[in-house]
Amino acid sequence: MAPCPLVLSGTATSTRRAFTLIELLVVISIIALLIGILLPVLGSARETARMAKCLSNMRQMGISSVAYAGDYDDTLPTVGFSHGGETFPEQGAWFFLLQDYAGGTLHYRCPSDDSPAWDVPDGTGRLRRVGYATSFLHSGLTSSPTYQGLNVLHRVPRTSATVYIAELAEESPTGFATSDHFHPETWFGDPSTHDATIGLQLEIRQHAERANYTFLDGHAENAARSDIFEVDPAATLFNPLFVTNRVWADVAR
Ligand SMILES: [Zn+2]
Repeated sequence: MAPCPLVLSGTATSTRRAFTLIELLVVISIIALLIGILLPVLGSARETARMAKCLSNMRQMGISSVAYAGDYDDTLPTVGFSHGGETFPEQGAWFFLLQDYAGGTLHYRCPSDDSPAWDVPDGTGRLRRVGYATSFLHSGLTSSPTYQGLNVLHRVPRTSATVYIAELAEESPTGFATSDHFHPETWFGDPSTHDATIGLQLEIRQHAERANYTFLDGHAENAARSDIFEVDPAATLFNPLFVTNRVWADVAR
């Protein structure tokens, strides 16, 4: 006997209903609100990571500088990348000389460093080769008696309180973006112009309004510019004076 075919009859009543337009708009606006809240948090977490990588770069440079000085009667390497028409032998630049003391590769570019001069020559026709700068006061290239001898570590009274390396300006009409050093002895004038003057040489707000600094004892810190140096209004060209001074210490005599 053939089986009876199963016949379904009647229709099922669906209890599902679609979102109304209003409900959809509410959901979309809540998602947009959450994205708006989360994006800055994610952005600041990314910047914190970049700052930490940069700080690690700068600590490596600090350790390498101290190790280098240990091999050269306590004398620091000199600067080498010219700016504004000066010419020094590039092979003698601190950054090249420290590579042998790094126990690995020194990373010369901060992850937040977007300087156009990495790819396009600046006004002096040069490309950027390092994103960090040593203080010219510790270069040994100055003839000024005010800070002569500061390239010899044991002649610096407070190495742990004296900045040696800072973050180089990304753009500078005066050629600092493609140099490898900064000149605290040129910071003077009306206090309202100090940030602009220093900004031609250094990035002082590279990481969330702060920047990283390496000190002569090899340690590195993330700090606000005002915690590192406040230029004294009485400072004059080649006569550096600071109210808050973690950038220059007179030589031990
Ligand atoms: Zn940095």
